[in-house]
Order: sequence, then structure tokens, then C-alpha cells
Amino acid sequence: MAVLVVADNDNALLRDATHKTVTAALKISGDVDVLVLGKGAKAVADQAAKIAGVRKVLLAESDALGHGVAEAQADAVLALAGNYDAILVPATSGGKNFAPRVAAKLDVAPISEIVDVVAADTFTRPIYAGNALETVQSSDSKKVITVRPTAFAAAAEGGSASVESVSGADAAKTRFVSEEMVKSDRPELAAAKIVVSGGRAMGSAEEFQRVIEPLADKLGAAVGASRAAVDAGYAPNDYQVGQTGKVVAPQLYVAIGISGAIQHLAGMKDSKVIVAINKDADAPIFQVADFGLVADYKSAVPELMDALAAA
Ligand code: FAD
Repeated sequence: MAVLVVADNDNALLRDATHKTVTAALKISGDVDVLVLGKGAKAVADQAAKIAGVRKVLLAESDALGHGVAEAQADAVLALAGNYDAILVPATSGGKNFAPRVAAKLDVAPISEIVDVVAADTFTRPIYAGNALETVQSSDSKKVITVRPTAFAAAAEGGSASVESVSGADAAKTRFVSEEMVKSDRPELAAAKIVVSGGRAMGSAEEFQRVIEPLADKLGAAVGASRAAVDAGYAPNDYQVGQTGKVVAPQLYVAIGISGAIQHLAGMKDSKVIVAINKDADAPIFQVADFGLVADYKSAVPELMDALAAA
């Protein structure tokens, strides 16, 4: 069986989700190639070539691929699909955009967000907002799979695969117009070792920035938010953690003024250590918390900041 992993990258850096997807791919077969889609992304291909266990790196470049246009990404993958039995894509926002297009064009059922590989045709994936795991067996001759990166360890470095250029693809019906990038010195939410998240209790965007962001910066953490906080405009969309946001599994997750609805837990309950600050002792977040503080965040967070400053 030959497996193609589509790399997660920003034209300059190969993201860790790729290494984790390679781990999943290697559980299916030893014949794993990595496809880098981008523009001016040779450095990314060179980084992918260093992942242990990778046979070959393919580099497809075009303007549309450089901007992550999903139609072009799907076409570039489809051009190579004939050579592979399985195509694995990290379940990031970008991956979740083009992988279903690939599956539709191949007329196969996409298998989404796998968290384990049981056999080459059998996979485990969460359902019901992560409350149950189902095992699915696919009889499709070609499998299109998105992989939840937080469920797999990163493949080690140490490989020396060859890098080969393949033809890029442009989107016939879609044109890249512009993008707005949020520049931040904080770690990326999905890959951060520590995440500090705020909920509806913050009450305003100003309060969210006053309380959550300094604590995150003190801890070198990424900032997350509940959907209620995002919907109310206290935090930007890309901060959302949960079923319809990002799935994170950091070493430490700090939830402040978040009740712990199942849709929020679906995005963070696999965190190693969970700390919750909530003034309601019956809040469901305490059922998953390793350390729970029943307190008003307005007094608890300043105390925590003082203690961290003194440490
Ligand atoms: P609330 O539930 O209102 O909780 C606020 C908490 O703050 C309460 O527990 C309260 O006791 C506490 N609090 C209040 N004041 C203070 C204070 N001064 N000090 C300390 N604690 C205080 N939600 C997500 O988060 N992510 C998702 O991806 C997501 N996807 C969804 C998908 C679907 C299909 C649906 C239906 C819902 C989804 N939701 C999601 C929404 C989810 O059901 C909850 O509504 C949401 O998570 C609640 O956010 P919250 O905990 O911030 O707000």
C-alpha cells in the first residue's frame, strides 16, 4: 500500500501536524510519501524530507497553492491520487476544506478526524462531540482520511528522502483576492504546550484582553476561548476551542469562566492537566478538571498573577 500525506505548511515552515499525520500513515504502510503544496516552498519540502520513515517528498507549486486555495489543493492531490491507496490530510481548517473535495471527486467516503489506525482499512474516530468512539472499516479502494493531529505523536526527524517537483495546479473558478493575517508572538493555539481560555464570564472584549491575555503571556501560552465568548465578540473566531473550533491537547489547559459544555470539552478534554476557575461549584468543567478553583476570576486571576510574578 502506498500512502500520501499532504503537508501542513505556510510556504516557509512545515507544521508539526504533518509529523503527526506521518505517524498515522506509517501505521497503515511503510510506503509513505509527503506532498507539499505551496509557492516558494522548497524549504518546506526539505524539512519534510528529514522526517524519519518518509520515502519521497513531492513539491507542487503555484500561486493558488501558495494562498491555500482549496480547489487548487484538491486538484493537485487528485493529479497524484492514482499512485496511492490512501491520502492522509491533517484535520486542520485548511485540510478539512480540501480533503472532502478530493473524496467527492474520487467518489469515495471521506473518513474524518481519525484518532487511531486499527488496520490499513479500519480506523477509530470520535462521534457525538467526542462522547463516543466509533471504529469504521472502509471498503473503498482509495481512502481519503483526515487525521486529528493531537491523537498521534510526532514522527521523529532523521530521514533523508528525495525531493521531486510535480506540476502545480491553479483554480479555474476561484481567484485569490486578499487575506488578513493576525500576527501574534504567542504560540499557535493548536500546537501550544499551554493554553489559557476565557469564557462568557469575561463580559466584554476589554475584560477578555485585560484578564486572559496577560496571564497567557506570563505563562508563554496561547489564548483560547469558548464559543460563547467568540459569539459575543470578546475574542476572535480563530481562538475558539471545541467541537466547532480547534481541538487542542496541551500539557496545561486553564479554563477561566467557562462552564464546560460538552461542545467545549470536545476540544480540550485530552489536555494533560486541566485547571478550571469558576464561581459555580456545580459547573461541569470541574468534572474534567485536575485542579478546580471555585472562585470569582476577578480575585483569583490577580492572585495567580502575583504568585507567578513572585515565583
Ligand atoms: P457559559 O456556559 O455561559 O458559562 C460561563 C461560566 O462562567 C459559568 O459556568 C459561570 O459560573 C462562570 N462565571 C461567571 N462569572 C464568573 C466569575 N466572575 N468568575 C468565575 N466564573 C464565572 N462551545 C465551545 O466552547 N466551543 C465549540 O466549539 C462549540 N461548538 C458548539 C457546537 C454546537 C452545534 C452547539 C449547539 C454548541 C456549541 N458550543 C460550543 C456552545 C456550548 O454549548 C456552550 O454554549 C458554550 O461553550 C458556553 O460557553 P461558556 O462556558 O463561556 O459560557
